Amino acid sequence: MEKRLLRSITAVLFALTVAACFVLLNFPDLHVYALQRQLETAGRGREGRSVLDLMRRETEILMGSETEPALKKQLRLELPKDVEENEVEIRGLYVDQTVEIVIPRMDDSYFYDYPMIGSSDHITDVKYDLEDGQGVIDIQLDGVFEPDAEIEGRYLHLGFLDPREIYDRIVVVDAGHGGSAVGATKQGIEEKNIDLAIVQELKKLFDEDPQNIRVYYTRLDDSNPSLESRVGLANALHADLFLSVHNNSTASGRMSGINGTEVMYRVSDESGRSKQFAQFCLDSLLGTLGSQSKGIVAGDEIYIVRTSEAPVALAEIGFMTNQEELDKLNSQDYQKKAAQALYQAVLRMLEEKDE
Ligand SMILES: [Zn+2]
Repeated sequence: MEKRLLRSITAVLFALTVAACFVLLNFPDLHVYALQRQLETAGRGREGRSVLDLMRRETEILMGSETEPALKKQLRLELPKDVEENEVEIRGLYVDQTVEIVIPRMDDSYFYDYPMIGSSDHITDVKYDLEDGQGVIDIQLDGVFEPDAEIEGRYLHLGFLDPREIYDRIVVVDAGHGGSAVGATKQGIEEKNIDLAIVQELKKLFDEDPQNIRVYYTRLDDSNPSLESRVGLANALHADLFLSVHNNSTASGRMSGINGTEVMYRVSDESGRSKQFAQFCLDSLLGTLGSQSKGIVAGDEIYIVRTSEAPVALAEIGFMTNQEELDKLNSQDYQKKAAQALYQAVLRMLEEKDE
């Protein structure tokens, strides 16, 4: 008697499951309607709204369907019908550990009209926002990854690659200050701009370098990433070297005769590599610029020096509070020379590792 009852219950449950599958497969509108309701009730923050849960649910529903095209990489997005392949922009915002996808002519309903599916252990959140009629999808990751995109038909396939598996060497270069944090200011000249100009020149040299060295920059514009995210970039990448470019001023900030080049290192780096890197930077800068030596000095009281896991050097190229040096620092010729010197010091330090 009990057995028969159990069998009937099993039969009923089976019938219900089949019916549910039939409904889901044949009435996708029900699914879309449910998603739409959910989107309408979800709150929108300043940086877009999280669509990670939505993506996970869509993945669960769509991956089971046999008619779905294959998932070639970790994620798959369907592009709106009127959007061409070359209009899609994929950017690695490395300091923010984010990959950003910008698609033109999208609207608020994108995520239920064109589901994004897939999964990666490295995704911590997915946010969607509309900016000037463009859809911006921010994929937040738990580390620094290179986007690996491929567009096939109407689908964008996206994967995330570990930079350590692509590049032989990884260097992080930091231009000091930025934005409202101007650094030292003398005669209308702001340190942040000189630091950035030198780093821009340095970038030109690395861009031409034939070796498989990848350089990540904490900023290449007038932004001001937090100190945590600057050193965080180097640490997350397990960078071979971390170089920060600054310029000095006297403690009082008054113009004076004090001038010269100084490089900070991390004393607590027991390998001695930070000290060695700082020494290479100093030697190279003195040789190229002909500036006075202020030596290599302990920089452990500086947050980014103290917390860098990579061998770190913080170069103070010259004194903005010295008229002669200020004039030089403000010239492109001197900035180029400083960049050349730092470039040589980085290459020398990277070679050192091979021995
Ligand atoms: Zn500075």
